[in-house]
Amino acid sequence: MEEEKSSTKKSINPKDATICEATARMLEKAKKDGVETAFDRALNMKACPIGADSACCKHCAMGPCRLNSKDPYGKVGVCGATIDTIMARNFARMVAAGAACHNDHGMAMLDLFREVANGNNQDYKIKDVHKLEDVARSVGIEVEGRSTKEIALDLYKELERTYTQVEGEIPFAKRVPEKTLETWRKHGIVPRGAMREIMELMNRTHMGVDQHYENLTKQCSRTALADGWGGSMVATEICDILFGTPTPVSAEVNMGVLKENEVNIIVHGHEPNLFESMLVSVNEPSLVKAAKDAGAKGINLVGMCCSGAEMLSRHGIPHAGNFMSTEAILVTGAVDAMAVDIQCIKQGLVKVAECYNTYLF
Ligand code: SF4
Repeated sequence: MEEEKSSTKKSINPKDATICEATARMLEKAKKDGVETAFDRALNMKACPIGADSACCKHCAMGPCRLNSKDPYGKVGVCGATIDTIMARNFARMVAAGAACHNDHGMAMLDLFREVANGNNQDYKIKDVHKLEDVARSVGIEVEGRSTKEIALDLYKELERTYTQVEGEIPFAKRVPEKTLETWRKHGIVPRGAMREIMELMNRTHMGVDQHYENLTKQCSRTALADGWGGSMVATEICDILFGTPTPVSAEVNMGVLKENEVNIIVHGHEPNLFESMLVSVNEPSLVKAAKDAGAKGINLVGMCCSGAEMLSRHGIPHAGNFMSTEAILVTGAVDAMAVDIQCIKQGLVKVAECYNTYLF
């Protein structure tokens, strides 16, 4: 039965699936090896037509309610929600999830910054003091004649409001161009704090709360701004302060960065502290010796996806590919280990890693 099912599966044409020559070659190899990737799953995934049109709601236990986008006003949900309300709610929950991801990442970076600033974490340090002072000044913190620690602790306290504040405007609203800020204020969409905005958006999109699509979309804007001008911006600034502000570098990219005679380790994810630590430890003599004892010339550390981009821009570390080539690169059979942290880590990586004996951790 299983065999019968797999024989009806459509087969990808790698050249149609990607414009990346290296990925296309690995997809060709994966086909020969009988290994499945996201490209195969995408081709064989028959999208739910109701879901594709966002015409379904399962926000409460009276549902799921299925509407028809071909006859959008012919039917409403059990609670009476129209298709406009349902679609606005579905979109809003995507905004809430995206904003939560970026903000949670930003908050993790800010947690690390706090621990470094108060001396509890000695493994990292504030690398870019100029950037620290610039960011502090931009939110109104006095820097003249003060120690790095004093400025950093004040900056931590100020930026924590990005997430936890319940009333007022997020700290980086001070950086918004005047006219833009005026418009945001007029429309009531200056974010207060990310947790507050995401919580309110989740509440207002539930059954029996906010019903009007325009009003729901307005809260989407406020939540999205709590991401772009809030959590995401904090993450960027804090990473620069802790790990250094990027400058133009020249670096190699794509799968050719893997080396035939070295132990190839890929770091993939979002939080640069994992990669920064590995970059320090990769030159540890005992590790280099272990690689040599195993017959390799050394250890080749490369990045992928977003933490890869951070390491490329700060240290010129080779970048092996983006989110969509993370499975394909394992198909080379040349990856000894892949380290992952949070976000963009496909569950499908586990199976592909098993097929090629790659240690995934
Ligand atoms: S909120 Fe309304 S439309 Fe959504 S599942 Fe409940 S009853 Fe159905």
